[in-house]
Amino acid sequence: MADKVHTNKCYCDIPRDKLAQLVQQHYIQHVPTTEMMRCAKSDGEREDIAVVALLDVPREELVKLLTLENPAKMPHWLECHKYIRQQLAEEGLCLKGVTPTDPGPAQST
Ligand SMILES: [Zn+2]
Repeated sequence: MADKVHTNKCYCDIPRDKLAQLVQQHYIQHVPTTEMMRCAKSDGEREDIAVVALLDVPREELVKLLTLENPAKMPHWLECHKYIRQQLAEEGLCLKGVTPTDPGPAQST
């Protein structure tokens, strides 16, 4: 079970190259969140890591885990979450619960 996250940071607040770097570390090199947190140099970086760790959390779990400092931002946040997951799926990264835009041919033969 993932920890609850309280933040006001959205994916669009994280520079694209920073986001890509954290995604690479966590989802491709499988560095655990705790290890990434330990190496983080600032609170801002820890927040980046926390939201990146939420990328493989499906929406229905997210609403239970995530508290935003500004709750009105939630619909926007969820849209960004969906968008980034979709982007990563298109780049070939498989995240839990992401349906690729092109499901490919059904296995009929
Ligand atoms: Zn955003």
